[in-house]
Amino acid sequence: MRILIVEDEKEISDGIQSVLQKSGYETDAVYDGLDGLDYILSGVYDLIILDIMLPKINGIDVLKNARENGITIPVILLTAKSQIEDKINGLDCGADDYLTKPFDAGELLARIRVQTRNAGEQTETGLKAYDILLDKNTFKLHGNDKSVKLARKEYQLLEYLMHNKGQILTRDMLITKIWGFEEENDYNNLDVYISFLRKKLKYVEAKAAIVTKKGIGYSLEKE
Ligand code: CA
Repeated sequence: MRILIVEDEKEISDGIQSVLQKSGYETDAVYDGLDGLDYILSGVYDLIILDIMLPKINGIDVLKNARENGITIPVILLTAKSQIEDKINGLDCGADDYLTKPFDAGELLARIRVQTRNAGEQTETGLKAYDILLDKNTFKLHGNDKSVKLARKEYQLLEYLMHNKGQILTRDMLITKIWGFEEENDYNNLDVYISFLRKKLKYVEAKAAIVTKKGIGYSLEKE
């Protein structure tokens, strides 16, 4: 799960990042509204933590613009105590929740869990798509009577494909989702992991398969 933090106060941003990373989330951070919007529109995030008072474009306008562009993922707004009107405005503009600064780590994590628990076809043990089940506790892929353990990147890649089953995910979206913006985008890496995953899908005798969309990307479909 990849979370974007849009917050111009470096100390707060660093604090949030370290809390989230310790809890196993992948994070990216940007420090003004313009970069925030740019990153949000990439479509690779599962959740956004968005400060309201931001340089260049304020958080409310970032949110409005993102929603107008069809971005439906959960957004948690960060507000200062004095910004009651902003809170109401933010919820009107499509925020899913807000947190008043200062907040503690436990509360932030609880809010994130609430916002992300309904994503995809989540079952008690994991994520289901077609005839496969991805177990988030064991990192195992279950197919027809067989199961196999996935490496971390394989798991993240398949999770993203399953969340968006039947839809084409571009190579850039997949790479950014799994490797982030910081690391050098390596197209070969993606192909290698896709081929690992295909072998494992075959091994568990799944009808679900990763289909190549030539020149665009991949999609998880049922054969
Ligand atoms: Ca701020």
